[in-house]
Amino acid sequence: MKIAITGGKGGTGKSTIATSLAVELSKKNKILLIDADADCPNDHLILSIKRKKIKDVFQLIPKWDFKKCIKCGKCSMVCKQHAIVFVKGKYPIFIPEQCNGCRACMFACPTNAIGKDNKKVGSIYEGKKGNIDFLSAELEPNQPSSEFVINALNDYIKSKNKKYDFILVDTAAGTHCDVIAALEKSEIALAVTEPTPLGEHDLKLILELLRVLKIPSNIVLNKANVGDKNLIKRLASKFNTKIIAEVPYEKSIMESYSKGKPVSHKSIKKLAEDLQNGKTR
Ligand code: SF4
Ligand code: SF4
Repeated sequence: MKIAITGGKGGTGKSTIATSLAVELSKKNKILLIDADADCPNDHLILSIKRKKIKDVFQLIPKWDFKKCIKCGKCSMVCKQHAIVFVKGKYPIFIPEQCNGCRACMFACPTNAIGKDNKKVGSIYEGKKGNIDFLSAELEPNQPSSEFVINALNDYIKSKNKKYDFILVDTAAGTHCDVIAALEKSEIALAVTEPTPLGEHDLKLILELLRVLKIPSNIVLNKANVGDKNLIKRLASKFNTKIIAEVPYEKSIMESYSKGKPVSHKSIKKLAEDLQNGKTR
C-alpha cells in the first residue's frame, strides 16, 4: 500500500509523523520510506540513516550559437520564466537558474540559433535501517523547481520494481507540482495539520487537491491539545473525511524531535495498527 504523508503547511510535523510511522510499521512489515521533500530533506537525519548517492538528475536547458543569432529578441519575449534578458542590439543573456526547460525559446527562434544542453538540478540518495529501505531526493541550491527530481525519483522506484508491504511518501509542504508528482499513485493520503487557523487554511488546500486527484484523505492532527480542534473537525466533515490520529503536544515528543529521533507514542502506534488493519477511508 502506498501512503502519502502530506500537508498544505510547512512545519506541521510531516517528517516526524512519516519517520515515526515508518519505524512503527517496520516492526512487522517491509517498508520503503521516500523523502520527497526535495527542498529540505530531513528524514535521514531523524532516522540517523547514512545516505549514499545513487544518481544526479539533469534538466534540459537551451544553448546559444551566436553565429546564427540575428538579435531579434523573440526568445526573451516567449520565456515566461524571465530566464533570458534581451537588450536591443545585443545577444541574449541566459540565466540558467531561472530556466525550467520548457523549450519555448527553441521553438520561437527564427534561425535555429538555440540548441540543447543540460544542468544538474538535484540528486537521488538511498539508505537502509532495519526493515526500512530509504530513498530521498535533494534539490541543488538555487534551483527553482524540484518537480524534475521527484519525477526522476518516481522513475527510479518503478525501475527497482521491489515489493513492499507499505510505501510511505513524505511529500513537501504545499500544493505545487512537486507535491502532485510525489502523490502519484498513492492509495491514501495522511494530511498532517495543526488545530490553528493557518493549519485549517492550508489543510483545505491540500484536501481540495487530494479530492481532484481522487486520493482518499485522512487527517492526522498534530499538537492536537493546543488550539481549536473544532476548526479541523468542521473542515473534515465538509470534505467527508475524518481525523484518524491525534498526536499531542507533549514534552517527550518535543524532546525526541529536538534530538532528531523518531517519536515513539501511543497515538503513532494506534495509527500504525489502524493502517495495518485497513481502518482508513
Ligand atoms: S527553455 Fe523555457 S524557461 Fe528555459 S530559457 Fe527557454 S523559454 Fe525560458
Ligand atoms: S530568438 Fe534566436 S535569433 Fe532571436 S535573439 Fe533569440 S537566439 Fe537570437
